[in-house]
Amino acid sequence: MIIGLLKDAAPEQRVALLPEHVKHLIGCKTQLIIEKGAGKLAFADDAFYEEAGAQLGSRPEVLQKADLLVQISEPGEALVREVKPEQIWLSEYKPLWNKKLVKQFLTQGITSFSMDSIPRTTRAQAMDVLSSMATIAGYKAVLDAANHLPAFFPMFMSAAGTIRPANVLILGAGVAGLQAIATARKLGAQVEAFDVRSAVKEEVVSLGARFVEVEGSREDATAGGYAVEQTEDYKRRQQETINEHAARANVVICTAQIPGRKAPLLISKEVVTSMQPGSVIIDLATSTGGNCELAEDNQTVVKHGVTIIGQSNYPALMPKDASKMFGKNTCNFLELLIDQDGGLKLDFDDEIVRTTCITHQGSIYNERVKSAIK
Ligand code: NAD
Repeated sequence: MIIGLLKDAAPEQRVALLPEHVKHLIGCKTQLIIEKGAGKLAFADDAFYEEAGAQLGSRPEVLQKADLLVQISEPGEALVREVKPEQIWLSEYKPLWNKKLVKQFLTQGITSFSMDSIPRTTRAQAMDVLSSMATIAGYKAVLDAANHLPAFFPMFMSAAGTIRPANVLILGAGVAGLQAIATARKLGAQVEAFDVRSAVKEEVVSLGARFVEVEGSREDATAGGYAVEQTEDYKRRQQETINEHAARANVVICTAQIPGRKAPLLISKEVVTSMQPGSVIIDLATSTGGNCELAEDNQTVVKHGVTIIGQSNYPALMPKDASKMFGKNTCNFLELLIDQDGGLKLDFDDEIVRTTCITHQGSIYNERVKSAIK
């Protein structure tokens, strides 16, 4: 099988496979063709790919020769039109949001896999790009907040007086939230975190943060570690608690999500006005509507003296390590699609392959996408 690596469109700076991953895949008896310049913004020059044993080509050459095409994010409509039905598409293309794209893959009869549909199971952990990228987002969000805050994160006692540590409130203690807690604690802030899943309390506390509790949340052990929709009464009490804590916070990092749904609204306009001027809100969920009413996707705005940052692609701002992690996850997944002679193997009895497959021979394979698109 020939694997073709495409260059993602700007402003993306990551690349789906680095030369080290290419070398590994060549060891699995596949061949690789790399679009010229694919890794440049991730500090992986063409020469390194050649050294790893890959061939370089123009985009038309990659599209012409590859059996399987890989890139980081969703392709545009025009690019998909150039993909042939016998080729396999692999990227993180957010099928629950990009329904038009799913329909295009279906209509063209293309087999497509989306890396954000990897199940969150122990066996699939090494392929879980959502967790890898959320780790980066949680880390970068805190650094960004510290950069914008007109105050220290840690406590300082000096001859010029005592500076109190910053109060940081993290909403959502999943992968991004836990990483944000760890990073804010390392910078010396006082950290509080809230999540509807009380199961995360232990982890929050073990990272040195205080867990903000609201009793009576609905939890579902079958939801694969994800949150489920809450009752109206719980939402009202939750809101009152968040409002109180946000008003005291210098920094709020929003990471709450329920997969496939619009992000829950947790910080209203009124809450922003109650915050101290100079405070910072980072909203990681702006691509799905945002947790903060005043956040705008990929914009930094100042409202009522509060800086609100809606950055939906922090991993692209850390392209070197983000590509290293994304590439390793992709490489591990690709191994499931490669037989012992380096040929293509589509084993839909394998739960990871079946769940990650979005379209195949004109049908939708992933159950969640199937019910969302009906
Ligand atoms: P996750 O599912 O692991 O964590 C989300 C957490 O939010 C869960 O623990 C869930 O219980 C909690 N939650 C759900 N509803 C809530 C509510 N009403 N109140 C409080 N908590 C609630 O997700 P993740 O992988 O950590 O990603 C978090 C967010 O960050 C997502 O929106 C994701 O799309 C986004 N993300 C952003 C970037 C970026 O660069 N901006 C990168 C990666 C992920």
